[in-house]
Order: sequence, then C-alpha cells, then structure tokens
Amino acid sequence: MAVRSELLKNIRQAEPYVPGEQPRRKVIKLNTNENPYPPSPRVAEALRNADADSLRLYPDPEASALTESLAEYYGVNKDQVFVGVGSDDVIALCFLTFFNSGKPVLFPDITYSFYKVWAGLYGIPYECPKLDERFKIVREDYYRENGGIIFPNPNAPTAIYEELDFTEDILRHNRDTIVIVDEAYIDFAGRSAMELIGKYDNLIVVQTFSKSRSMAGMRIGYAVSNPELIRCLNNVKYSFNSYTINQPALLCGAAAVKDEEYFRDKIRIIIETREWAKEELKRLGFEFPDAKANFIFARHPQYSAKELFEALKDQGIYVRYWDAERIRDYLRITIGTRKEMEVLFDFLRTYIQADGK
Ligand SMILES: *Cc1c(COP(=O)(O)O)cnc(C)c1O
Repeated sequence: MAVRSELLKNIRQAEPYVPGEQPRRKVIKLNTNENPYPPSPRVAEALRNADADSLRLYPDPEASALTESLAEYYGVNKDQVFVGVGSDDVIALCFLTFFNSGKPVLFPDITYSFYKVWAGLYGIPYECPKLDERFKIVREDYYRENGGIIFPNPNAPTAIYEELDFTEDILRHNRDTIVIVDEAYIDFAGRSAMELIGKYDNLIVVQTFSKSRSMAGMRIGYAVSNPELIRCLNNVKYSFNSYTINQPALLCGAAAVKDEEYFRDKIRIIIETREWAKEELKRLGFEFPDAKANFIFARHPQYSAKELFEALKDQGIYVRYWDAERIRDYLRITIGTRKEMEVLFDFLRTYIQADGK
C-alpha cells in the first residue's frame, strides 16, 4: 500500500550512510577494514564465562568495567572516558553535544562519509575544505571561524597519517571550538593525540575496538577528553538511551584491553603485511599515498578502478570502490592475512599481464 503524501510530508527523510557490503557467501573480504585475525583468546573466554541469567538485568549504565579498564590503559581518570556502541555512536553523540553554534563544522572533502550524514541528520551546517592534490589535509584551511572540527587521523579512505604537530596546530588555532580527532586507525600509524588531552581543553580523541582490536561485531567505541566535556557527552547520552553497552560487550571489551601482548603482536603482523603489500602493488604499477592504516588507497594508471573492482568481485575478492568525484580512480584495499593478500596479488598479476596494456 502506498503511503499518502499528507502523511509523508512531516516524516524525516534522512540521507543515510552506505556501509560496505557484508556478503553472506564466503569471500576474501578486504572491503570494510575489519581485522583479519580473531580477537584475543581472552575475549572468547569471557564469552564462555558469560552468565546468560544475568541478561535479565539491565547492564551497568556507566559501563564501569570498560571505562575503568580504558582509563587505566591510557593513564587517565575514569571520568575522562566515554564509551559508546562503536565509535559511530560516540561521534554521532559528539555532533549532537558539541556542534551547536550554528556556524559551519569543518571536515575534509574526502574523509569518513558518515560525518556528512550526521551533520545532515542533525541539521548542522558544515563546510568541507579540499584535500590538496596529494590528498593531504591543508591545515591552514582550519584556521578560520567554525562551529567545530572533526577529522580522522590517519584519514580515511586515504590512509594518510599526520604527525602530532599537525593536530596541535589545529588545536592552537581553534581554542574556542571543539576539535574531534577520529583515531579509528591510530594503532597502525603513530603517536596518538591522546597525549594532548591534558594540554588542550577543546580536544576529544575517539577510538574504536572495531579495527585494531578485531571486535567490529561487538560494537565498542570510546572518547577520551577532560571530565567536563565527558560529562556533557554523558548527559546527552542519558537523555537518549541509558543502557547502550550490553553486558557481554562490557565483559569482552574489558578482557580485550587486558591482553596487550596479543594486541601488539597482531598489529605488528598487519603492519608487516601492509608494508609487503605496498611493494607488491608498486610492482604491479599501482600508485598510492603512503598508507599508515590497515588499508591502502590505490589507483592504477592504466586500469579503471571500477573495472578492477568488478573483476575482483567476480573472483570473490571484495575491496571498496566509490563512484565519487576525485576518488573514482581509486580502490581501498583492506590489509587481510598474508594468504588473502597473495590471492589478491595472484589475480591482479594475471589480470594485468593477460591484458598486456
Ligand atoms: C570504522 C570507522 C569508524 C567507526 O567504527 P565503529 O565500528 O563504529 O567503531 C569511525 N571512523 C572511521 C574513520 C572509521 O573508519
């Protein structure tokens, strides 16, 4: 039955974020930057020990087990940590909490496409300064009046990492607005802006368990800042939904944080695989900005990205492609296991040679 237009006219029509595909069949999945390794065995143990009876109770609204273990891990107080249902939840709440001046929020033209979606949903004005021709964020573009700033570091989908002085320059030029650094991929890159929290009251650092901690399916993200901004964030959360983190996620998240050795080991392997993958891609003629995340954003001067994307998909190898301005020549390739990457390169080698361009 068609819904009448009188009914539709007062319904919010949102322009949604389009996530990468989650195919049901078994494929080589290099399209959504998940970790190819399982989470720490301590997570499996926590799941095994989880008490189904306790599910009749609401979980701890403060998510204390998790905020406390993260606070300890980063050497901050627990009132400086906010936990959400993935960093998507955390960042969405940040938009709602901190971007209320009516002035445009700034984020790069090529970046995590969810920022635009949240701004649209909440009616927050925004402007998108262009990355330069090498896909780098131009810091001076963020030295003007604004209603807040957000950028990922490393940026997505470019995988380019900016050193701490870059973030600090942006913080220094924007003392009166909130600057959010989305560090979804920081563990594969370099120094975190976390160390600037004590120095700048306008800084919020957001991280996630989805990539480096192999727990995308559990949905855990967090923000670290000063107690006052974290309190504002909590007040908005409690005005929306008190019980965001479920009981098993609390236990599994805390268990994961305790296994530093496993965490470091898997990150090291992914970085090694990435560095080797860069060499392989170069040998095949691909070009890409230096990747510091768990993915590479690459183009081939002789092949259309769309054509490669589809040929790969036919082989059951999923990568990410956007038919969008400035980036339609590029593929974003998540770093899988060495074996998965070998299947990818075997195919590309044959494909590129057979064509003989
Ligand atoms: C993956 C990603 C997120 C969101 O991750 P969650 O799974 O919601 O924690 C946020 N920002 C960027 C840049 C990402 O790539």
